[in-house]
Amino acid sequence: MHSLIWSDGQWSSGTKLIGAGDHAFWMGSTVFDGARAIHGQLPDLHAHCERAINSAVTMGMQPRGGRDDIVRLVHEGLAQLPVAHDYYIKVLFYCPGGFLLPDPATTTLALHLFEAPLPADTGFSATFSDYRRPAPSMAPTDAKASCLYPNTQRAMRDAAQQGFDNAIMLDPDGAIAEFAVANLWLVRDGVAKTPVVNGTFLNGITRQRVIRLLRDDGIQVVETTLWPEDLLVADEVFSTGNYGKVLHCLRVDAQPFAHGPVARRARELYLQFSAAGPR
Ligand code: PMP
Repeated sequence: MHSLIWSDGQWSSGTKLIGAGDHAFWMGSTVFDGARAIHGQLPDLHAHCERAINSAVTMGMQPRGGRDDIVRLVHEGLAQLPVAHDYYIKVLFYCPGGFLLPDPATTTLALHLFEAPLPADTGFSATFSDYRRPAPSMAPTDAKASCLYPNTQRAMRDAAQQGFDNAIMLDPDGAIAEFAVANLWLVRDGVAKTPVVNGTFLNGITRQRVIRLLRDDGIQVVETTLWPEDLLVADEVFSTGNYGKVLHCLRVDAQPFAHGPVARRARELYLQFSAAGPR
């Protein structure tokens, strides 16, 4: 598997990065973002790099350089890898220094590029998790901070133990927030619906892109509060997220869903957008 790391101002192969004494390792002062190279194209790379910087700032870090510096480094790294493969592009900021509080002056950028084929849209199953997404008053929900992910891991582990591929997480009020690490959509009578941003889930870059692509294609998209009962009357369910882009859901608990026209169109539009390259 091809893999490349950028840290301490240089590229190397392998995956070693932080040490046991680092604050990031001990107390989780790490933020990250994930972008993708698909057939040599880098859809929304700028947005992912910008969000990595914003996440770092939210967590009190002091990232040096700007979005375009990270974009340049990503291009530099990819130029060293065979273009025939798809890659996951992880942009990390972390603080090695500090004791209880991280030392923002030690904010460090690292990149991890690794081969990761875009998953085929074969359909996934999901179940409702008992764990909820936190309210903004409980956790830094607007940052893509590593410290938020143990809860999603618990949800995914529980789902896997019950034989499901994914988990649906509710917000503190019991409304649908998202899938474990992707945004949730349902379709009813040809209208695509996705939870309205309320600070409890990540407003995914893929989500925002798919909203625009569907609307431009003449499909109605409604951002609204969705309750678990809304799934009972849905015609289609699908997810959006950087890793799999658009993937359709075949089943939530015992309820089956069709692989319908809106989910198919959303994936097709996304892949067309990606293939069209930078604009
Ligand atoms: N929610 C969570 C919790 C995630 O980790 C991700 C993946 N980054 C998403 C949603 C989807 O966001 P994006 O489309 O920006 O990858």
